[in-house]
Amino acid sequence: MSNAAVITPVGGPTLAQERRLVTAIPGPRSQELLDRKASSVAAGVGHTAPIAAVAAGGGVVVDADGNSLIDLGSGIAVTTVGNAHPKVVAAVQAQVAQFTHTCFMVSPYESYVAVAETLNRLTPGDFPKKSALFNSGAEAVENAVKIARKYTGRPAVVAFDHAYHGRTNLTMALTAKAMPYKSGFGPFASDIYRAPMSYPFHDKLTGPEAAARAISMIEKQVGADNVAAVIIEPIQGEGGFIVPADGFLPAIVDWCHANGVVFIADEVQAGLARAGAMFASELFGIVPDMVTTAKGIAGGMPLSGVTGRAEIMDAAHTGGLGGTYGGNPVVCAAALAALDVIEHDGMIERAQQIGEILLGRLRALQAGDPRIGDVRGAGAMIAAEFVDPATGEPDAALTAAVAKECIAQGVIVLTCGTYGNVIRFLPPLSIGDELLNEGLEVVASVLAAH
Ligand SMILES: *Cc1c(COP(=O)(O)O)cnc(C)c1O
Repeated sequence: MSNAAVITPVGGPTLAQERRLVTAIPGPRSQELLDRKASSVAAGVGHTAPIAAVAAGGGVVVDADGNSLIDLGSGIAVTTVGNAHPKVVAAVQAQVAQFTHTCFMVSPYESYVAVAETLNRLTPGDFPKKSALFNSGAEAVENAVKIARKYTGRPAVVAFDHAYHGRTNLTMALTAKAMPYKSGFGPFASDIYRAPMSYPFHDKLTGPEAAARAISMIEKQVGADNVAAVIIEPIQGEGGFIVPADGFLPAIVDWCHANGVVFIADEVQAGLARAGAMFASELFGIVPDMVTTAKGIAGGMPLSGVTGRAEIMDAAHTGGLGGTYGGNPVVCAAALAALDVIEHDGMIERAQQIGEILLGRLRALQAGDPRIGDVRGAGAMIAAEFVDPATGEPDAALTAAVAKECIAQGVIVLTCGTYGNVIRFLPPLSIGDELLNEGLEVVASVLAAH
């Protein structure tokens, strides 16, 4: 157990840190919004929790009916510092009253540069770095690929099984799973290749064995000289919180460096304290050439970054990178506040503490329930994978039923995984221990009832 002080949950004095159900989920007001959503919002935009959110903070999301749900999802790994963190709110309010937009490519401003300086300092690697800012994780990945291709003069990009890199055209090609991310949305970008991932629970390979398998595929089917970049999530997110076996990532990085290939770590989900380190890459002792960041970077505001070796980042010609909104001043102000909290308010230690609570409870559950095939993860990024004990096959139906019932009982949990059989736990780091334990109790009792 780390000695760091437990973070006091934040979120405003009026937001009680409790699970409170005053109606069924959804209640009448939430249902009213869901009906309007159904008739006005494109069907392709789904939702996990059938509620109308009106407030959130600490470890809870409050809905329009007055229900208070325990948040074990952080809006998909975004509210790392907590929802509406007071420092983020203050930074946004001050900036929004000053100016809202000039376009950094028209009239630059300080906060963008300060975010770049901070990312250059925080990302792994003791070499000169530069950054560029964008709006979303997918946009960061797109730009990382653009830069790597320009730097190497090569076309091919290698991604991995179970990868998730976004929903734009290029990132759909990089993403592995067809449903729901890709089906019917092709044709996809060319020169993208998929290598086998290290997935210890399924492949039973050591890290070096899994790396040799991937490298052989790349050399035989793509050709090292054609490869601009290898992109990988050090801990895969949407694909199932898959932690590669020891030695897998270092072997891939070594191969990249021996072959002039840019190694891109997509840290959009695992980075910035989520996995119990500033970057998940550090947990495996690797130093990427480029890192993509987003999700937890700005306390809920939309910002993403690409950070990398200066000589790689500078390969793109002036005017070749950018976008109207990328690194918007309000969002950069939020990011500076959130990054300050992550760095200086004990967030890494808190992620580790939360991880110990999650792992302890889930491993205890696993010991008495053979349907939990695997419990894994790092920091506040922990998952349970569900299987049919008789066959070992993924049990997506159980996973979906448990997640749905947890939400009905006031605990927001998210599923993930190529086989849809993983429940992932990624609470805001501002959640209190009591609330977290209560959330896990609900999960345990729901599981016992299924
Ligand atoms: C969420 C995610 C993305 C895409 O980010 P968006 O902001 O949704 O575009 C890319 N990579 C990883 C690892 C992610 O988890």
